[in-house]
Amino acid sequence: MADVKFLSGENIPLEMHKVRMVQKVNLLPIEDRLECIEGAGYNTFLLKNRDVFLDMLTDSGVNAMSQNQYAAMMQADDSYAGSETFYRLEDVLQDIFGMKYFLPAHQGRACEHIISKILVTPGSTAIMNYHFTTTKAHITLCGGAVEEIIIDEAFKIKSDHPFKGDINLDKLNSLIKELGKDKIAFVRIEAGTNLVGGQPVSMQNMRDVSKICRQAGVKLVFDASLLGDNLYFIKKRDPEYTDVDIIKITREIASLMDIVYFSARKLGSARGGGILVSDDDLFLKMRELVPLYEGFLTYGGMSVREMEALAVGLRETMDMDVIGQTPLIVEALCNELSKNNVPVVTPPGGLGCHVDAMDMCVHIPQDQYPAGALAAAIFIASGVRCMERGTMSEQRNDDGSERFSEMELARLAVPRRVFTLSHVKYTADRMSWLYKNRHLIGGLKFTEEPRVLRFFFGRLQPIGDWPQQLAKKFREDYGDSL
Ligand SMILES: *Cc1c(COP(=O)(O)O)cnc(C)c1O
Repeated sequence: MADVKFLSGENIPLEMHKVRMVQKVNLLPIEDRLECIEGAGYNTFLLKNRDVFLDMLTDSGVNAMSQNQYAAMMQADDSYAGSETFYRLEDVLQDIFGMKYFLPAHQGRACEHIISKILVTPGSTAIMNYHFTTTKAHITLCGGAVEEIIIDEAFKIKSDHPFKGDINLDKLNSLIKELGKDKIAFVRIEAGTNLVGGQPVSMQNMRDVSKICRQAGVKLVFDASLLGDNLYFIKKRDPEYTDVDIIKITREIASLMDIVYFSARKLGSARGGGILVSDDDLFLKMRELVPLYEGFLTYGGMSVREMEALAVGLRETMDMDVIGQTPLIVEALCNELSKNNVPVVTPPGGLGCHVDAMDMCVHIPQDQYPAGALAAAIFIASGVRCMERGTMSEQRNDDGSERFSEMELARLAVPRRVFTLSHVKYTADRMSWLYKNRHLIGGLKFTEEPRVLRFFFGRLQPIGDWPQQLAKKFREDYGDSL
């Protein structure tokens, strides 16, 4: 995507690719959408894709691949051990990150499993800018605790801070002093903070954190799943890097870390994932677990076709036209929504557009899941499927009480190279209608509530008949339009 100037003054994200393969999507009438969300227990995770118009649930594993990625899949060398495909992927990763070893895994959470098994001991603490759901689950499963020390600015919905994903260095220093190095499992930096609006981390902050960790003898782990977006923002927002090659920036980041891991469902527009490390001892310890949990060392749970697509996808990620696509279309969506008063997280990040449900649904108490209710309402109003990122995504405290999330967000994720500007305009229209009728949206309560990762499979029901009222108002305003 290129930042091309238009004489009209409009800010239009211009696609630097053309579409050569398409998938038909269905837009059901609102009465059917109502039935679908009821059948899904008001949980957007439980909707069937055939009932969804625009799937903005996640960017995970649904990014469009390039013709070169598809072509590469055809030359995959299918063998259990020593596949040529693996060595091609290993070469690309070693080149891009400048690290010595690569351990393959079937996806990002598998890397977290292996890293936690090696570095987290019962009673230890993992310190990080912010957690991701699966990261925290793996650390807690190993008996560890999670401490989040992202800068305060991260929780300001309206901000112009260019790097809201940064770590608070004072908090890092005092935590290291307070806990002592032996009680710290590792420090973790998550690029493009998933749960805090896809906000980037600055290079200076990564340098500072690395220095503190090295002085204290604490391991630094980097979650590079959303690195593509983060790289784009470093180049765009940090004048020191405007003219630096993306691959050089990537290598500099990697040189600051002890372990780098990623989900290739995001990074490299493919599937799979893996861990990069240069330290021999850490490599040997983690290597033992790969055949146990993932598969032999030259595939780690990935198919050879996935690995070929990933090798090409990673190379293609080192290009601003490629990594700029999502941030620019996210910005366009955020701007359209802001124009219509819909409260969104600013500055726009990568990953998706985050609607502030705490503001939009101020009348819904947090124990009735405002972001979950808004996600269900968005589907009813538009057929767009988004994801709740709020209290529903948290786990209850040990005494059964709710752990209220800092923010209640409905996240409209923008898979890379999948949607067009007309999709953005449609979404903005329905969202702005929903905003005008936000008083009609009501709360939700659980009817089936799993103990772990409840947002994946939990079922809920509306408090009152607000979904029907919403549909009725839609018909009044939109007539017999879909
Ligand atoms: C998606 C994601 C993960 C987990 O990766 P999976 O491939 O879904 O297991 C970890 N960290 C971040 C930041 C992610 O976005």
